[in-house]
Amino acid sequence: MSLRIGVLLPEVLGTYGDSGNAEILAFRAQARGIDAQIVHVGIDEAIPDSLDIYTLGGGEDIAQTIASRKLAADSGLARAVAAGRPVLAICAALQVLGTYYTDADGKKTAGAGLLDVVTLPQGLRAIGELRSEPGPGLAARGVTDTLYGFENHGGGTALGPDASPFGLVTFGTGNGVPGVAPARTNDSRTPDPKLVLAGTPDGYVTEVDGRRIDGAVQGSVFATYMHGPVLARNPQLADMLIAMATGDSLAPLDVPGVADLRAEREQFIAGQ
Ligand code: GLN
Repeated sequence: MSLRIGVLLPEVLGTYGDSGNAEILAFRAQARGIDAQIVHVGIDEAIPDSLDIYTLGGGEDIAQTIASRKLAADSGLARAVAAGRPVLAICAALQVLGTYYTDADGKKTAGAGLLDVVTLPQGLRAIGELRSEPGPGLAARGVTDTLYGFENHGGGTALGPDASPFGLVTFGTGNGVPGVAPARTNDSRTPDPKLVLAGTPDGYVTEVDGRRIDGAVQGSVFATYMHGPVLARNPQLADMLIAMATGDSLAPLDVPGVADLRAEREQFIAGQ
C-alpha cells in the first residue's frame, strides 16, 4: 500500500514546526518498506476524506481562527474521523477540533466538534518542557513509553465526558486550568484580570485522579499540547499511528539518536 499522510492547513497551522510529524511518519513507514507520501492540504483546497493519517499543527490565535472557519465549511476531516482514520492534532489544533475556544483577547470561536473539549485562557502562557505518561486511550493501543514534548500555549483546555486524557502530566503544565495561571511558565507578564475570571464549565475536568492532564483522545483523534515535533521524540506514538493506518503490526525500528534525545530531555527535566 501507499500511505498518504496529510498535513492540513500548513499556512495557518504551521508555526511551530509540527509538520515534522508527517516527515517522521513517512520516514518510519518507508524504513519498513511501506511506500509513503506526504499530502499538503492548503487552506483553499478541499480536505480529502481518504487520506490514511491526518496531522494538524499549532498556530497563533488569529491564524487558528482561519483554520476553524475552514473546518466549519469543509467536512472532509469530519468524514475521515467518522470512518476511523487516525488524526494527530497539536496545540492550536487540539483547541480548534474541540467544541469552542476563547482566545487571549476573550474572543470565542466555535470548534470543529471532533473532540469534547473546551479551551479558555489561562491568563499566562505555559511555556517549557512537558512530560507525561500515556493516558488510557494511548495505553490501550500499546503506547507505554513516557511522552516528551515542548509546550507553548495561552489556552487552558478542559475535557468533557467523551474525551480522555492523551497524557497524565509528570512535568510541565499540559492542558492547564482555564482561568488559572499555568503550573509552569516563563511568561513574566501579570495575568490579565479579565481572563483570570474565566472558568471551566460544569461537567468538564482539568485533572484525573488528582493528576494534571495533557491533550485529549476521542475515537481516532489524538491531540496534545506537545510540540517537538512530538513524533520525533516519541517513536512509539508514530508507530501506533502507522499501525492504525496499515492495520498491521510493525517490525521494530531503531533510529540512531532517538534514545539519546529522550535521555537528554529527561536529564534536562531532572535538572529543572
Ligand atoms: N494560540 C494557541 C494558544 O496560545 C495555541 C498555541 C500553539 O499552537 N502553540 O493557546
